Amino acid sequence: MHKSRSDTSLNLLGAAGTVTGSKTLLKVKEHQVMIDAGLFQGYKNLRQLNWLELPFDVKKLSAVVLTHAHIDHSGALPLLVRQGYNGPIYTSDATIDVASVLLIDSAKLQAEEAEYANRHHTSKHHPAKPLYTIDDVEKTLELFEPMPFGQWQEVLPGLPVKLQYASHILGAASIRVKANQDEIVFSGDLGRAEAPILGAPEPLGDVDYLVMESTYGNRRHPSEDPKLLLAKIIKDTVERGGAVLLPAFAVGRSQVLLHTIDSLIKSGQIPKVPVFLDSPMAVNVTELYKRHHDDHLLSQKAIKEVFGIAKMVQTVEQSKALNELKYPRIIISASGMATGGRVLHHLRTLVGDHRNSIVFAGFQAAGTRGARMVAGETSIRVFGQDLIIKASIHSIDGFSAHADADQLIDWLKTATREPRRVYLNHGEPDAADALRLRIERELGIDCVVPLLGQEVRL
Ligand SMILES: [Zn+2]
Repeated sequence: MHKSRSDTSLNLLGAAGTVTGSKTLLKVKEHQVMIDAGLFQGYKNLRQLNWLELPFDVKKLSAVVLTHAHIDHSGALPLLVRQGYNGPIYTSDATIDVASVLLIDSAKLQAEEAEYANRHHTSKHHPAKPLYTIDDVEKTLELFEPMPFGQWQEVLPGLPVKLQYASHILGAASIRVKANQDEIVFSGDLGRAEAPILGAPEPLGDVDYLVMESTYGNRRHPSEDPKLLLAKIIKDTVERGGAVLLPAFAVGRSQVLLHTIDSLIKSGQIPKVPVFLDSPMAVNVTELYKRHHDDHLLSQKAIKEVFGIAKMVQTVEQSKALNELKYPRIIISASGMATGGRVLHHLRTLVGDHRNSIVFAGFQAAGTRGARMVAGETSIRVFGQDLIIKASIHSIDGFSAHADADQLIDWLKTATREPRRVYLNHGEPDAADALRLRIERELGIDCVVPLLGQEVRL
């Protein structure tokens, strides 16, 4: 019998030609389901897209399924709610907790930005308003419905959905949808096979259509072990009596750094020096690893040991007191690109002394303080003050939470049947296209990179 496929379609309303703003509208018969609802970030022309009305009728949306908590996947949920959505948002239990922390923080940042724009008259709008408020976030959080990993659940009549483990960050999932006879898999962001705390993503399994991320579609992670690079920097810094400052993202990176430092101390590769985690958000997220112990590889005992090596800094007073300490120390603090947060106070204290080291252990977006320091600028402006950089500045790439091109191909090879077509999203154009070529040439699978807003029929 001829099979009609006209009743299933996908529409990428974000993360097309870019790595942010993930939003895919899936239509199956009468149902409309949104996979992820993330904010656009980075360049201004992308960020402006966040202010546009979503190009579909939010009232017709019957469910949202979220892959993971990162703001470029979850940060537009409050916008959906503002536009009238009040249906369920399905995701893993851990993602609900992590997203709560991140969405509240996102609302605070929006408020700060609006306040800054009003004070400095940098916006065309008077008064400048935040994209959304804490109130909107609270309404959003009420809509979350936890879903277990590995179990089919009908999120709408006749539409079973299953979460599978994606590594990447705590709670992250790939989403599998059974639409008529077809299985459609949305990879979400995929972690690395060798990730120390989260381990490898679950094998892909049965799939007919795959929507896959392509962030590192044209890149290979550096072969040198980031752990050894970090060990050498810490050892050298401690020997000259200095402090090591690690600006780090609160979710994932801070915990991986603690894990790395713990194992370096245990193996005697670095001396035992005091370690501080100075970011309330990172401290809160670290607590979540205890609650969601099934969602990562660390035992409860290991969690206690690994996260126990750091003193968790909560109050501003405790944070300021760190600046008075004279002995060698390691401070992990947010934000990861030194664009804001407590790390700025530490930067101000530490950057002018040649004994200290500042180590950027994550991607530094163009235009950020972190990117300028890594590029070798000789002075940096912090709180309106130009500071001469005398500390040694390092950048370590190898801690990424994303699978690289080879690992994306390897994951695709774990499919138990060949997908009819792969759609690539969540990548810059050159990364997505490089991966598309590999998928077509090496695996012989039809692969397409859809444009923003392009509806594709399955
Ligand atoms: Zn992510």
